[in-house]
Amino acid sequence: MAAATRTVYPEASAVHDGRLSIGGCDAVEIARRFGTPAYVVAEDDLRARAREFTDALRRHHDGPGAVLFAAKAFPATAVLRVFAQEGLHCLVAGGGELHAALRAGFPPERIQLHGNAKSEMELATALDAGVGAIVVDNFDDLDRLERLVPAGERQRVLVRVQPDVETDTHAAIATGHADAKFGMSLPHAAEAIARARAGGRLDVAGLHVHLGSQLFDTDPFHAAAEAIASLGTFEVYDMGGGLGVPYTAGDRVLEVDDYVAAKAQALRTVHGDGRTLCLEPGRALVATSTVTLYTVQTVKQGPTRKWVAVDGGMSDNLRPMLYDARYEIAVADRMDVDGEPCTVVGKHCESGDELVSDARLPDPRPGDVLVLPTSGAYQHALANNYNGALRPPVVFCRRGEARVVVRRETYEDLMARDA
Ligand code: PLP
Repeated sequence: MAAATRTVYPEASAVHDGRLSIGGCDAVEIARRFGTPAYVVAEDDLRARAREFTDALRRHHDGPGAVLFAAKAFPATAVLRVFAQEGLHCLVAGGGELHAALRAGFPPERIQLHGNAKSEMELATALDAGVGAIVVDNFDDLDRLERLVPAGERQRVLVRVQPDVETDTHAAIATGHADAKFGMSLPHAAEAIARARAGGRLDVAGLHVHLGSQLFDTDPFHAAAEAIASLGTFEVYDMGGGLGVPYTAGDRVLEVDDYVAAKAQALRTVHGDGRTLCLEPGRALVATSTVTLYTVQTVKQGPTRKWVAVDGGMSDNLRPMLYDARYEIAVADRMDVDGEPCTVVGKHCESGDELVSDARLPDPRPGDVLVLPTSGAYQHALANNYNGALRPPVVFCRRGEARVVVRRETYEDLMARDA
């Protein structure tokens, strides 16, 4: 495989005679066996990324620390199970993800709940489960939590702060600026910390910041560490997630090592040695482990472009529509042939259902299996039933063996809750 595309495909992938294999499994055979669309995961890549993060944290941070997988990126139980086995902690965004994390085998003390609108039931479930920490996002969250913690008990919390740091990312995934949807301004955070301490049921272990997602620059991490210094000194600093990944061959990204080093250094410089450093990668742990397989249904030559329509689209990948995300796409058994310009679209009743507008595919025909790399993050997570689409399976591939870890939805599944 050419060096340029290496980065968007799983490490555990190869091209022989133009045919792509993932984790030792031929992509076209996987498509025939399990149907399309399908998310195909190179399981070894998940483990490799987890170890890259934990090794980097150990190397660059002198003190306790934890890598939390942000479950929102790929909340399949099998994915969570891999990270639980690799010793990661887990960040959950609500009751559903909490349920999945427990089911996957994360010890409750390694789970952290966050969110800007946690319900009473979600907080109560987290308290019952005995989660390691809850991120307090606003004053209502704080009040609700204080009411729910039984007298005589204490719950560890982190306070989420808006450091007022801008990042160079899509507006929909920027979160560190002032007046953001998540977290509290510095004065409000100071007030919340004082209230929590006075209330006696919450143990304010530290602060939480998350600047945004798909980040490529380390400067904002220093700015964020400095911005929160006025709140005092704490045991725990959770510096959030956000490491960007390549979606197209030309994308330049930060190495995991440089990203972890930058956060560790920012913490050390501003807050000194010995603090607990938590990192919350989501996307960077899962994105390049996975490809989506589609089958071409129709090919149409229009006056200005060729339309290649596949059997999925915005029901299995909302990212192009939500974030103007760009992707690579290729024919799984003609990977080594240069193509002609075309637009790859989905099957949904929506002109915006466009997966890759600037694709190059070699003589695409109905029945061809297409492969869309960098599919592990926020695709399965955002899958939906638009136009009655059935959500795709997740197939793990490792050393030539393929196994379904999430089955394809059925029409019975769809109808089961619909009177
Ligand atoms: N932490 C928090 C609080 C988040 O909201 C998110 C996602 O937006 C993450 C971590 C994971 O971010 P990413 O997938 O960019 O690493």
